[in-house]
Amino acid sequence: MEFRDLKKQYKILQPKIEEAVKQVCEKADFISGQAVKELERELAEYVGVKHCITCANGTDALQLALMAWNIGPGDAVFVPDFTFFATGEAPALLGAVPIFVDVEEETFNMDSESLRGAIERIRKEGILRPKVVITVDLFGHPADYNRIRKITEEYDLLLLEDGAQGFGGAIKERKACSFGDISTTSFFPAKPLGCYGDGGAIFTDNNEWAMLIRSLAVHGKGTDKYDNVRIGINSRLDTIQAAILRAKLEAFCTYELEMTNNIALLYTSLLKGLVKVPSVKTDYYSSWAQYTIILKDEKQRDGLQSGLAQEGIPSAIYYGKPMQEQKAFIREQNVSSGNKTCQHLCNRVLSLPIGPYIGEEDVETVCKCIKKVLSEITYM
Ligand SMILES: *Cc1c(COP(=O)(O)O)cnc(C)c1O
Repeated sequence: MEFRDLKKQYKILQPKIEEAVKQVCEKADFISGQAVKELERELAEYVGVKHCITCANGTDALQLALMAWNIGPGDAVFVPDFTFFATGEAPALLGAVPIFVDVEEETFNMDSESLRGAIERIRKEGILRPKVVITVDLFGHPADYNRIRKITEEYDLLLLEDGAQGFGGAIKERKACSFGDISTTSFFPAKPLGCYGDGGAIFTDNNEWAMLIRSLAVHGKGTDKYDNVRIGINSRLDTIQAAILRAKLEAFCTYELEMTNNIALLYTSLLKGLVKVPSVKTDYYSSWAQYTIILKDEKQRDGLQSGLAQEGIPSAIYYGKPMQEQKAFIREQNVSSGNKTCQHLCNRVLSLPIGPYIGEEDVETVCKCIKKVLSEITYM
């Protein structure tokens, strides 16, 4: 069994993808080619924002957004403690200090009350300037934008939505990657919409930021890349990746997202009562980047993971360590009391195989195995 079955997806989409790649090779417009422009238009339309700028990966997308806002030394950037490293790495690379905020157990996403507490603490200390809140739509479930938007408005902070795992999610009719002042996503192969290498994108309705980001992503270009008006980076999406993404986007919107949601529903119906299953808030739609269950304690979680592995079932721990305990961040932190829910989750979470091409029989096999292993884990 595959954790996310990209081989099966390729078999199904193969003719379209090979034709798309062939066209790019024949035209030899490998950098900033036609498919890039078309993809950006399609992505902006799908998400419902004015501008989409593609780039080399989801980490660069975060960095470019922060660069457009001139974030750097002396700035505080609020980041969930339970996420992939890149969310905190991007502000730290620019010299800002990431302040790690606790999460809700229900959705694994940034907790608005902990955010308020962290902002108040930084204001009281008076050393750093609170500037940006980076929300993460973890595992495909959009963060609580109703609550978090109120807080960013109250404290006059910018909101950056890290939608690397969130593409395809929604709150009512509004799509993920449209909730931030700037929003970003990643096309890393295992994300909800993945390409065949690295890729990323930035979304915004703001004309000035969009122009700045287009410049920053191509060596700070002015009228062209040999006219350099600011210090930027080199971060572009390859035309081949854009062509692959166009072929995959169509399948993603027309049926894959729905198939993945059906797989999640099936898991939930089979696992309810046995383990803590992930929930989706009312009016929210998840793109299910991960299907993550919560076990009783670390012993049960680790026992289940090795029991599954013995039956050839892959699983993963996202994430085993709070961000603020990562060695790279220890230097930076004025760690307060630690984030309790985050630590609780790190010891108990386990993500199961998910995606549009996991069969219903596979889900049944996984759930049967979970039942069997849990009944065998003895407590001494
Ligand atoms: C994957 C991921 C990123 C980084 O994306 P890359 O394309 O791998 O650079 C950033 N944030 C989150 C939450 C992610 O899951």
